[in-house]
Amino acid sequence: MDMKCFGCGHEMTTGRENVKYDACGLPGVTLVDVEVSRCGQCGQYEVAIPRIEELHHVMAIAVVRKSARLTPAEVRFLRTTLGWSGRELADHMGAAPETVSRWEHGRTPVGPQADRLLRLMVLHRTSPESVDLSDLKRVAAQAPADLRTRLIGGTAGWTAEATPSPS
Ligand SMILES: [Zn+2]
Repeated sequence: MDMKCFGCGHEMTTGRENVKYDACGLPGVTLVDVEVSRCGQCGQYEVAIPRIEELHHVMAIAVVRKSARLTPAEVRFLRTTLGWSGRELADHMGAAPETVSRWEHGRTPVGPQADRLLRLMVLHRTSPESVDLSDLKRVAAQAPADLRTRLIGGTAGWTAEATPSPS
């Protein structure tokens, strides 16, 4: 299953690596032991991510379960997980569309109630059986911090391994 570089046509070498999953928009997410094809000629590389829909589901649950407040990138990630536009999220949250835009661009911090409401909507949509309202009490009062997690794609599916954020 050799593949050719889409940049220069040279043969690519495929191996398994840990890669930062920057494309998802969340800076602290690492995919463990995924297949990466690299071109030794021009430096192009391609990451093969299996079961991406399930991966994003697991990531959304990991974001919802963290205790630090949501970052702007996480608000955006959760909104797209819900399949909503900014206006649709605003309508569901009872907020103005400009407010949602300010949250996602980091111009206004997400308030503690909006933070919890967004988490609850994601849980309702993705895994209603796991909703435990007392979990929401753990959402911290202090500043937002990125989710730090490593995602491991085993045969049974993706699992998120949360690592404590550096303080
Ligand atoms: Zn190349």
